[in-house]
Amino acid sequence: MSAQLLEGKAIAAKIKEGLKKEIESLKQKPKLVSIQVGENSASEVYIKAQKKNAENLGIIYELKTLELGVMQDILIEKIKSLNRDKGISGIIVQLPLPKGIDHRVVMSAISPEKDAEGVHPENLGHVLLGDPKLAPCTARAAMELIESTGTEFYGKEAVIVGHSEIVGKPLSLLLLNKFVTTTVCHIATGERGVLPEHIKRAEILVVAVGKAEIVKGEWIKEGAIVIDVGINRAGDKLVGDVEFEKAKERAAFITPVPGGVGPLTVTMLMRNVVNAFKMQHRS
Ligand code: NAP
Repeated sequence: MSAQLLEGKAIAAKIKEGLKKEIESLKQKPKLVSIQVGENSASEVYIKAQKKNAENLGIIYELKTLELGVMQDILIEKIKSLNRDKGISGIIVQLPLPKGIDHRVVMSAISPEKDAEGVHPENLGHVLLGDPKLAPCTARAAMELIESTGTEFYGKEAVIVGHSEIVGKPLSLLLLNKFVTTTVCHIATGERGVLPEHIKRAEILVVAVGKAEIVKGEWIKEGAIVIDVGINRAGDKLVGDVEFEKAKERAAFITPVPGGVGPLTVTMLMRNVVNAFKMQHRS
């Protein structure tokens, strides 16, 4: 059996079609401000994709670059002034931030209603309560991909590898909210050598670690849905966290890397900006 590819681009195109129409019907264009501290080649790629997606949809995109040595207080003041600006619908702070700046403090300074990435503690709290408002984009992207298979969630066995605040943890709650039995694996699971045991049970497997092909194809349960969030450079190409060629012989559905989760993550960011705009203009 060879798995069906879950192409993020095709699913993203459908969602963007709807978003474009929605934006055309708004009384003004939403605006997303992106803050970058210093230059960083990794975030350049994301910024380019964000700008292109925003402009294609009719969202104004503005990049503000602060110098590398900027103090945390100055960055927070900048965010607070953007919070007060009624013309701005969404704010995103590009990671990684330089040493000496606490990303948690910075993310918490963004107004929850303008939190385009869904990483403010209040928004994470809504995910916990089963009533997501602006949810973390990559976790939402993984959910969209799983939903696109038409699978029944109720009672399924899911395994997530990686417990980061932007992927593994919020995704575990989104799945739990759908009555999925969810196991979250992390560094200690790996160190104890029991990753294969957990993964072999997974009807839904999501891997977000950032280590090339850490999940072996032979561990995949026959007929599983495999969502590979990882992006790793291997020579001149990009590979995921799952051994793709072998995994696709066992899975029913699998995301390619690149072209799986990535295109949907940026689409979820755009959807958050539109939802943020609507929340701010409720009355
Ligand atoms: P992260 O914050 O570094 O989290 C990685 C997670 O993997 C941590 O929970 C870590 O556990 C766990 N881990 C590390 N080694 C492990 C092992 N041997 N066995 C089991 N778990 C292990 O990374 P992230 O931000 O979630 O990103 C993960 C990957 O996804 C990266 O490759 C990133 O580039 C990619 N990504 C892709 C998208 C997209 O749109 N496609 C978006 C976001 C991220 P500990 O914390 O306990 O060490």
